[in-house]
Amino acid sequence: RQAIERDELRIYYQPIQSLINGHTIGFEALARWQHPARGLVLPSEFIPLAEETGIIYALDRWVLRKVCSQMQQWHTEFPLDPPLTVSVNISGKQISQPDLVEFVGQVLAETGFDPHYLNLEITESAIMEDGETTTAVLSQLQAMGVKIRIDDFGRGYSSLSYLSQFPINALKIDYLFVSAMAHGDKNSEIIQAIVMLAHSLGLQVIAEGVETEKQLDQLKGMGCENAQGYFICRPLSY
Ligand code: C2E
Ligand code: CA
Ligand code: CA
Repeated sequence: RQAIERDELRIYYQPIQSLINGHTIGFEALARWQHPARGLVLPSEFIPLAEETGIIYALDRWVLRKVCSQMQQWHTEFPLDPPLTVSVNISGKQISQPDLVEFVGQVLAETGFDPHYLNLEITESAIMEDGETTTAVLSQLQAMGVKIRIDDFGRGYSSLSYLSQFPINALKIDYLFVSAMAHGDKNSEIIQAIVMLAHSLGLQVIAEGVETEKQLDQLKGMGCENAQGYFICRPLSY
């Protein structure tokens, strides 16, 4: 609560690279807490607590507003063709908030940021909880031009039925598959299958947690079109 009140939250931006042409296509926005005594606190320490206490609603919304405003400024200062996109993490709990769609619309209107360059990342467990509400909320967000990405794909129960049921635009392959790829077990085949599944459903794929050149090359070879990870660039402060 104090982090928000005292303006101690910071946003780090991690570049996402196209494996087709090597260009940076956008960023993922990641929250940090610049604590006066403890230094930089990572989200793994405060997001679960924020979810438990309900502070996550305010936190995610603070992040969304800040990021849209920052991106709008960068689009104006450094116009690119195509413009850079940004992904913002939204806790699954937000989906059941009746005013989420209105809030997103309000932020876009206030900041002037073009919704077509905004991705919202939601984990699969979150969207599976209440199918009807989720479908309605995601459809309304998409109607505004916002794109929906399933985060940590493959880590949860991965009920494949939701892929056809829910309006989504992209899958982010969980870093666990990417990091295990080098061990020569079946993880490469799983990634290959996810890439093919995504493409046949008309979805984009982003591989997360790419830490080596070898992983990057393997992903390219599998037809994965986007990647994110320390090998490409660490999350950067601004
Ligand atoms: P995530 O959405 O899966 O974000 C990717 C995480 O992987 C980030 O951790 C990023 O720093 C880390 N990462 C990036 N490249 C690599 C790599 O090559 N290797 C490894 N091992 N890790 C890499 P981070 O920033 O600590 O965030 C952790 C999680 O906290 C995020 O996972 C996301 O679920 C959550 N989170 C972060 N910011 C927000 C936010 O504003 N709202 C909500 N609701 N959740 C957030
Ligand atoms: Ca994410
Ligand atoms: Ca993820």
